[in-house]
Amino acid sequence: LGRRINAAVSDLTRSNSLDEKAFDDMLKEICAALLSADVNVRLVQSLRKSIKTTVHFSSLPPAVNKKRMIQKAVFDHLVALVNPHAEPFRPKKGRSNVIMMVGLQGAGKTTTCTKLARHYQMRGLRTALVCADTFRAGAFDQLKQNAIKAKIPYYGSLTQTDPVVVAADGVAQFKKERFDVIIVDTSGRHKQEADLFEEMTQIQTAVNPNQTILVLDSTIGQAAEVQSSAFKATADFGAIIITKTDGHAAGGGAISAVAATHTPIIFLGTGEHMMDLERFEPKAFVQKLLGMGDIAGLVEHVQAITQDSASIKETYKHITAGIYTLRDFRENISSIMKMGPLSKLSGMIPGLSNMTAGLDDEDGSLKLRRMIYLFDSMTAAELDSDGKIFVDQPSRIVRVACGSGTSVREVEDLLSQHRMMAGMAKKVGGQRKQMQRAQNML
Ligand code: GDP
Ligand code: MG
Repeated sequence: LGRRINAAVSDLTRSNSLDEKAFDDMLKEICAALLSADVNVRLVQSLRKSIKTTVHFSSLPPAVNKKRMIQKAVFDHLVALVNPHAEPFRPKKGRSNVIMMVGLQGAGKTTTCTKLARHYQMRGLRTALVCADTFRAGAFDQLKQNAIKAKIPYYGSLTQTDPVVVAADGVAQFKKERFDVIIVDTSGRHKQEADLFEEMTQIQTAVNPNQTILVLDSTIGQAAEVQSSAFKATADFGAIIITKTDGHAAGGGAISAVAATHTPIIFLGTGEHMMDLERFEPKAFVQKLLGMGDIAGLVEHVQAITQDSASIKETYKHITAGIYTLRDFRENISSIMKMGPLSKLSGMIPGLSNMTAGLDDEDGSLKLRRMIYLFDSMTAAELDSDGKIFVDQPSRIVRVACGSGTSVREVEDLLSQHRMMAGMAKKVGGQRKQMQRAQNML
């Protein structure tokens, strides 16, 4: 998508006649790209209208700036769409916060329950899980396995078939035991059906949740609008979690769901593992959707600073081999800090633009400094690893947070940025190998 939009803008700025028609053609191409990324038709139309009214083509400065301004207009508009201007719920310690998950079968509710429980647990909230899915055979067993792995207390029943009774009993028990967060997993169906909605309303009445969360599979694409609206009408939810964003889905469906329900997205599911949960940041999300700061930028950047230092040379060698350790990440960050104001560099490096989105130069460089503190609290083995060591032993995360005087969240953010960059390095490495193989065959 990003490439298509960038290409559309470049075509315009390259052509000799920068006239209204060329501008219209470019808008058309951008809209087509957004549609193919599953952004809802009506939203795309409104975006087109709004850009036409906010960007006055004839009064734009010269070609180079035009490109930036048009890109910025598209970016700002999408960020506004995905930002519902509603504060998401935050559980408070010292009272029982009941969270209920709803969504279709296979959306990722059960998986996300454990991710969320682990997230709160890491932040010092006593958390428990209740399995109110009596519809699907094996549902309780799945939740139980996850809960045991994450060391989170759980409740469920193999004999009671009424989900409302199980939900009410489980919540009552954990409330009595004064848990801070009680997460209720519910069953789904393959479609939005009457009996699913009835069951949901009954459970909602029985447990009276402080927060109901809709879990939405990003791979459903354009269906996101209809599906989220249907759930909103019956089981009013206050937050959305989008799952499977690690796959091939373009992500535009998420924008449609927020726009249709005026409800904030709070987290993104980024994989099957318990740790694969990322806080949702509108700017970073849209940046990723538009492909700003792509892999070419990363390689270019690393090449540009290769002359500077021997350790960077090492990193570049690593990346071309498909490897990207935490130490490589540290070297990158520290060299970026030497390169001058962040605003000049943002967008150039994917991880960096995600991390410093919305920050000015001063806050941005403070953030980079804090990242260095984090790296410097890691052991040599941790730095030379691919990061999995933290997944296997989450206590390391707490240790690094304490040792660096930062927070668990900052360590987790750093690790998830690293995972993203390492994934891209792997791709580059793979491409290199293929190219080499092809060359060797000639
Ligand atoms: P439920 O029916 O809504 O409870 O869905 P499950 O939690 O059982 O998840 C259905 C499938 O989706 C499982 O195979 C999960 O491992 C997978 N899944 C859930 N969330 C994610 C995610 O963020 N990324 C990926 N790749 N898979 C996910
Ligand atoms: Mg389930």
